[in-house]
Amino acid sequence: MIGIVYPSPIFGPVHSRRLGISLGINLMPADGKICTFDCIYCECGFNAEHRPSLPRPTREEVAQKLEEKLQEMKAEGTAPNVLTFAGNGEPTAHPDFPAIIEDTIALRNRYFPEAKVSVLSNATRLLKPEVHAALMKVDNNIQKLDTVSGDYISLVDRPTGAYDLNQVLSALEIFDGHVIIQTMFLKGKVGEHDVDNTGDKFVLPWLAALRRIRPSRIMIYTIDRPTPDTALLKATPEELDRIAELLRAEGFDVEVAY
Ligand code: SF4
Repeated sequence: MIGIVYPSPIFGPVHSRRLGISLGINLMPADGKICTFDCIYCECGFNAEHRPSLPRPTREEVAQKLEEKLQEMKAEGTAPNVLTFAGNGEPTAHPDFPAIIEDTIALRNRYFPEAKVSVLSNATRLLKPEVHAALMKVDNNIQKLDTVSGDYISLVDRPTGAYDLNQVLSALEIFDGHVIIQTMFLKGKVGEHDVDNTGDKFVLPWLAALRRIRPSRIMIYTIDRPTPDTALLKATPEELDRIAELLRAEGFDVEVAY
């Protein structure tokens, strides 16, 4: 069974391909995964195989453990580049997410004011005004948008509840540029379905949506770790470079992780 279950509520620091020295903040239970997507490429594995028995950490637990870790890093002389909300699922789904963001920003300001606060999210909860407001306060509001094909999202990202792509795109536009888009490119099969999203059939409509969203940066990447669906393949460096060039030609700031 594939799946990394991260410690909770604090893990690392780890050196991230995309974020530098990153201290992880995981708002999910320590023994499983809770996500509003069930991506076939999720490094944590399928939701059904990692049902937690523990509760999510409380706001108070997150603040206490984060402060302890920041004090420890200060004493060691290790400065994080970023405090990253990530881990076993969707951080904005924590009921106290807005208050936890407030606490985290206050602790960051106290211990490592140079560090950024990043949130890795799948964009499923942006319609909640309090979630939008909290994300406006973080330095790196990183939202997943793997495609603008509803069928592809159903097949690959697999929302666990109601999902309206047009509403998600509108919610991303409302950030008015205070958003970084991250997109997974991959290839392979799910049953009889080809899930290659590197061709123009998927890339050009996605590019049109990005023109409307006007993100400050676009992170494109591919599979890096074992996936629960084992028939998936990495996008090649050439395919990622081609997509990056299309974006740069339109003036976007692009980051590629091969
Ligand atoms: S959104 Fe992230 S955590 Fe959730 S299933 Fe997809 S890859 Fe995993």
